[in-house]
Amino acid sequence: MEQADTQLTDLFIIGGGINGCGIARDAAGRGLSVTLAEMNDLASATSSASTKLFHGGLRYLEYFEFRLVREALIERETLLRAMPHISWPMRFVLPYHPDMRFDSETPTSRLLGTFMPWMKGRRPAWLIRLGLFMYDHLGGRKILPGTTSLNLRTSPEGEPLQDRFETAYEYSDCWIEDSRLVVLNARDAEARGAKILVRTKVISAEREDGVWVITLQNVESQETRQVKARMLINAGGPWVGDIIQTKIRMNSREGVRLVRGSHIVTPRLYNHDKCYFFQGEDGRIIFAIPYEQDFTLIGTTDQDHPDPSVPPECTDAEQEYLCAFASKYFKTSVTRDEIVWTYSGVRPLYDDGAQSATAATRDYTLKTDEEGGAPVLNVFGGKITTYRRLAESAMEKVSQHFSDLPGPWTAGVALPGGDFPVGGVDELIRGLMTDYAFLTHDWARRLVRAYGTEAREVLGDAEQISDLGVEFGATLTERELKWLIDKEFARCAQDVVWRRNKLGLRLSDEQVAKVEAWMQNHRH
Ligand SMILES: Cc1cc2nc3c(=O)[nH]c(=O)nc-3n(C[C@H](O)[C@H](O)[C@H](O)COP(=O)(O)OP(=O)(O)OC[C@H]3O[C@@H](n4cnc5c(N)ncnc54)[C@H](O)[C@@H]3O)c2cc1C
Repeated sequence: MEQADTQLTDLFIIGGGINGCGIARDAAGRGLSVTLAEMNDLASATSSASTKLFHGGLRYLEYFEFRLVREALIERETLLRAMPHISWPMRFVLPYHPDMRFDSETPTSRLLGTFMPWMKGRRPAWLIRLGLFMYDHLGGRKILPGTTSLNLRTSPEGEPLQDRFETAYEYSDCWIEDSRLVVLNARDAEARGAKILVRTKVISAEREDGVWVITLQNVESQETRQVKARMLINAGGPWVGDIIQTKIRMNSREGVRLVRGSHIVTPRLYNHDKCYFFQGEDGRIIFAIPYEQDFTLIGTTDQDHPDPSVPPECTDAEQEYLCAFASKYFKTSVTRDEIVWTYSGVRPLYDDGAQSATAATRDYTLKTDEEGGAPVLNVFGGKITTYRRLAESAMEKVSQHFSDLPGPWTAGVALPGGDFPVGGVDELIRGLMTDYAFLTHDWARRLVRAYGTEAREVLGDAEQISDLGVEFGATLTERELKWLIDKEFARCAQDVVWRRNKLGLRLSDEQVAKVEAWMQNHRH
């Protein structure tokens, strides 16, 4: 059945990844009426499959991407302050050995090869130090500590590594719970008046009499309906090109380069809370990161992945590659039979004609088209780290079409649950455990890391565990599920156990099936 929504919205956003939700929040906060449609779950595509770092991108310095690195470095602390529950500082240990050789074609290595031919294929210690010096100083750090050197022979960070590594550099970046970041942006957008539609696919958008007429399909009920908007934003991530060609049907010279990146998760490989930054002989780098208390996350890869309709998966070859890469550094080899989970995502990079997937720019590009009357803004590329700045740049373009819009406002405004100081998590955990005496420390920490100051609202008036209703395992209860359905747009068990939290790592298939059955009976 086709219904028409006669109301005209200012902005219609296609895509509930970090870029769509970040723009929705910013625009709603400036007083625009906003509707966002996501065909699946929020963050179901690339925005839940990242390495989960707010980082400047140390390796991009070798590509001379100074604008991107500087913007991202500055952003780390702005974001950390606005969401100290889902983001936290991390130290990265970069082991160095003078015999290391790299098959590298970056602009830096070509420059080095030209002026110091004897340095070809090497990334000398002074070059790494110079890069880290720039990393420390390009972005004006206030919270994060700077680079230090480590003696791996005497420090605990050296213990899991092969004996040939004697020295390392240690620098700062931040962790971010990527899929929660998306949901919290969507919630804040909604609180400021935006309509967030999940499981709603845009099947076409046409210009009629100076406005957009957009046809939507509810993918659960198959019902279609139409809405009208003054401006369209295409934040379709890997589908940005598909949307341009098959949904909006417009001619565009801009292209997207789809590059798959995969991660593996193993039981915890070492006993400290720092990450490793490993350099490979192929010129690439990977991270090994403490993950969800009991696990280690290793990634990523760079593989061209031309068709967005093919769901990305971590292939056998990618699993082998990541195990072999990490095994060049760890004393104990990492083997495929240790892998407990893998995930894979597709980077929607702006096609700058780079030779390799690794070299394609990670910066974002925003292109407006208004030839047919009503304007559309297409979003290419971007990082989780730069989503807020990308939204501000998008709003600069949007404001050309709406008079008297207020200026940027999101820097310094906390996301839901993030209204407490950086470093205040332990105090929140203590307070929560005092008020809800039945909580274990791990349970309280999980709730504070997910919901921040809102953890109390999730638990409500509960005085004992039984007040929280059915317990599904791994501390997931009926009351929390109810919150996720009512406030966080969750529709099925997969939304909950892989995106609102990562309890999928701990729950059995039977437990997940029980979550699913409960949700099907209780969702609206
Ligand atoms: C392996 C990997 C590691 C990464 N690591 C980092 C990192 O550590 N730090 C960092 O800053 N960045 C990182 N990134 C980059 C970052 O994840 C992406 O830039 C970002 O998530 C892209 O967000 P997006 O909103 O553009 O796309 P997406 O998250 O893919 O969102 C687009 C959404 O549009 C929806 N959609 C598409 N078509 C339609 C339609 N017709 N109707 C309705 N909805 C539609 C899709 O379902 C999807 O949910 C990484 C990326 C990858 C792949």
